[in-house]
Amino acid sequence: MDIKDKKDIIYYLGVSEEEKIRELFDYAYKVKVENVGKFVYFRGIIEFSNICTKNCYYCGIRKDNTKIKRFSMTEDEIIELALWAYENNYGSIVLQSGERKDKDFVLFIEKILKKIKKLSNDKLGITLSVGEQDYDTYKRWFDAGAHRYLLRIEASDRELYEKLHPADHSYDVRLKCLESLRDIGYQVGTGVMIGLPFQTLENLANDILFFKKMDIDMIGMGPYIIHEDTPIIKYVDSFDKESQLNLALKMIAVTRIFLKDVNIASTTALQALKHIGRELGLMAGANIIMPTITDTKYRQLYLLYQDKPCIDENAGLCRNCLQARIESIGEKIGFNEWGDSPHYFKKVRES
Ligand code: SAH
Ligand code: SF4
Repeated sequence: MDIKDKKDIIYYLGVSEEEKIRELFDYAYKVKVENVGKFVYFRGIIEFSNICTKNCYYCGIRKDNTKIKRFSMTEDEIIELALWAYENNYGSIVLQSGERKDKDFVLFIEKILKKIKKLSNDKLGITLSVGEQDYDTYKRWFDAGAHRYLLRIEASDRELYEKLHPADHSYDVRLKCLESLRDIGYQVGTGVMIGLPFQTLENLANDILFFKKMDIDMIGMGPYIIHEDTPIIKYVDSFDKESQLNLALKMIAVTRIFLKDVNIASTTALQALKHIGRELGLMAGANIIMPTITDTKYRQLYLLYQDKPCIDENAGLCRNCLQARIESIGEKIGFNEWGDSPHYFKKVRES
């Protein structure tokens, strides 16, 4: 089985017979083991604020959703979680929140980055995922210690992007942000939502080609999941968890086979569709898991979508049950490692 071009990608994203899907996942798993090994890397994710100035049509914490209570963790709360991750041998963390561009926010993040770096003796890797920012802000945070940045393009097709966002959310700005991040020296992660209203298999195939063209090191993509209090819900005719999960898993598998040596996350949204969704993601070619380490008191407020899993479990419980489940499928966890992708190292060697 080889997947060489757009036609092949569309074909495999569309396979529906159980046997063919099995073959696809098994092959993707083989490609994963050959290129990145049987290792899973953890990124502990701290969702530190649901305050957002944007209004993406699909997202539960969009600015105009007045039904939710807004929160922002204090500096001490964030640092405490980061240190918990460090002491529990997570190689790196992700700091994620709604998007804010104000000066206070920029300085707050900078201060936190410096503190975490210092308190972890420069060892804990830090990924940021706080949306679109100016070049100078990205640079400032890079200098303060962030080395990876996650910014999903959400939909690489301009028309689809425009259907999912209000007119003042610009596709070009998002693209420019990805270029700035790369230029500054971040390892750049991007991705899309899978199974969105209006989205076709051709759109998804173009997303994979987009990852290749942009020479992306890490891919974080997951199924789109409904949220009742969002404008896009009126375009969702039916929401079938099983088919949504299958499409997302096929997307992971095809991306692994096509791009080979990148890092691919098995995202929490997979688990929202099925209890073992993330393990299925690993079996279909993903190699990164981002366990939430956000304090339980805030978890139920950071609901980007419905049925978010583990909102009552504390980070320790999450870690133990995940570890057991990962080992049960025969994989090893790369504790205390940053887990950069071989793709990234190849690029560094060549430059
Ligand atoms: N504000 C930042 C980071 C937080 S949102 C940003 O937007 O980049 C993180 C991700 O959640 C988004 O990139 C989006 O892909 C995902 N997301 C939002 N709403 C979702 C939904 N209804 N279903 C699945 N994923 C969703
Ligand atoms: Fe805000 Fe990110 Fe949600 Fe868009 S996806 S509304 S930027 S939190």
